[in-house]
Amino acid sequence: MSSLYVHIPFCKHICSYCDFCKVFYHEKWAWQYLEALAYEIQQKDLKQDYQTIYIGGGTPTTLTYEQLQYLFDLLKPFAYQVQEYSIEINPETMDHEKLALCLQNGVNRLSIGVQTFQDDLLKKIGRVHTSSQAKAFIQEAQNMDFQDINIDLMYGLPDQTLEDVYQDMETLNQLNVGHVSYYSLILEDHTILKNINYQPLDDEEDAKWYEIIRQQIQQYGYKQYEVSNFYRFKPSLHNLVYWHYQDYDGIGVSAHSLKNGHRLENTKSLTRYLKHDFLASDISLTLQDQLFEKIMMGLRLNQGLSIEEMNQLYRIDFLNQYQKVITKYQQMGFLEIVDGYLKTTFSGINYLNNILIDFLDE
Ligand code: SF4
Repeated sequence: MSSLYVHIPFCKHICSYCDFCKVFYHEKWAWQYLEALAYEIQQKDLKQDYQTIYIGGGTPTTLTYEQLQYLFDLLKPFAYQVQEYSIEINPETMDHEKLALCLQNGVNRLSIGVQTFQDDLLKKIGRVHTSSQAKAFIQEAQNMDFQDINIDLMYGLPDQTLEDVYQDMETLNQLNVGHVSYYSLILEDHTILKNINYQPLDDEEDAKWYEIIRQQIQQYGYKQYEVSNFYRFKPSLHNLVYWHYQDYDGIGVSAHSLKNGHRLENTKSLTRYLKHDFLASDISLTLQDQLFEKIMMGLRLNQGLSIEEMNQLYRIDFLNQYQKVITKYQQMGFLEIVDGYLKTTFSGINYLNNILIDFLDE
């Protein structure tokens, strides 16, 4: 699988929990940014046959109709073989024309930032769309034949109750959305919520809510395939590339690429990016770094890590090398080996961080 990530950093508003690389939308800057993106594309040896393309942000759909068309034209030479072409959307930045434009240009997966269907909570986290706007938008997209729709939902929001979470899941089920990413609110530095000293769920509560969500959502017929991701329609092929630790290209401010054992990191400074100074660092990953990162990503997946693949990729006897940590967590009932894959058990996912620390120490 070969994959391309494209970062569009503009947002119409700033959410109180967000630490992504973003700036307020400004039409002139957006045009300058698209020109800088065209420059980066020209300078890079991008493939002609990506199987997944993911336009993320920021909020890519803050771009005007003309700017979106310009972006799709830029990406067209790389999209001929694409199987999954995704774009991130916030409901308030979209209209029928922009949706039709996405469809015409081959986009077949929408990832919608919903977060919750409760209006009072949306206000508290600084979102500017309403619940009915989100629902209407999802239904409109479904009517236009977008089958592959993801929504992002969050738990642990200020003043959110478990009842709110149950209602969000019920709405998800009624809307028959094909995929959901369900994240716990993480308080990152330099976010508005952190600055006002919001206290998130403690670890115990977080684990309890997570457990409830996983169980309920699976009762609605969603299959969990990663720590925070569930599908009814199909998993995200693009995100699977990250979790399988395969190479990918990334373009745009703050985007990363993984290529032949190197992590290439673009600048996070929009000013630098607009001056065509895009690359900030080229980190050569040791075999040990790569081995650990592969374990870290692979154990997030319900399927787990292929032992045979680990042996071949890293020329090791994987089970032997990590025997101590694997046995420890097998005995605790948190890791298991099924059909040649090492994976976390249903309860083991809650202890993934501890498991990974032990892998790192081994
Ligand atoms: S969460 Fe999304 S929409 Fe909100 S500020 Fe961050 S990137 Fe923009």
